[in-house]
Amino acid sequence: MRTSNKHSFIQYKAVFANAYCISLFYLSIRQTYNSSMTKHTRKRGTGTVRKDGHIAHMRAGKIVFEHREIAERALGKPLPPGVQVHHVDGDPANNAPSNLVICPSQSYHKLLHARESAYAACGNYDWRRCQFCRQYDSQDRLMHTDVYFHRACRAQYNRDRYNRKV
Ligand SMILES: [Zn+2]
Ligand SMILES: [Zn+2]
Repeated sequence: MRTSNKHSFIQYKAVFANAYCISLFYLSIRQTYNSSMTKHTRKRGTGTVRKDGHIAHMRAGKIVFEHREIAERALGKPLPPGVQVHHVDGDPANNAPSNLVICPSQSYHKLLHARESAYAACGNYDWRRCQFCRQYDSQDRLMHTDVYFHRACRAQYNRDRYNRKV
């Protein structure tokens, strides 16, 4: 007699019988917190779940990502170069059109992630994290180069570094 737990593990092994079997198994466990088991047990012809959680299909010998295909269908033409597709709920396997945002560039995509991370961490989309003290704060209290930081935090960091050297 198999327990139902054992049975589902065997199902997972059958679906992900490849080198990434174990990591995918744990990834799938994590994903089942938010979604049903059946959603991540792929039926024949519905593609495979990649190591990073994205669903991919083989089309004429090429790997094609499902989220990009669906975005192209919505757009009505191939995605222009540099365009990226974002998953609103953070689940790379949820390719419902309402979960996808077409980003004109990588920097726009990064901005969406920065805004989502800020909201999750401090409840404010516009705040950013100081690279030195790691605290989120309003952008008008932060300096900005390629990263965000408090002027005072950077000054303290530089003093500490100078003191360690001498
Ligand atoms: Zn994204
Ligand atoms: Zn700081």
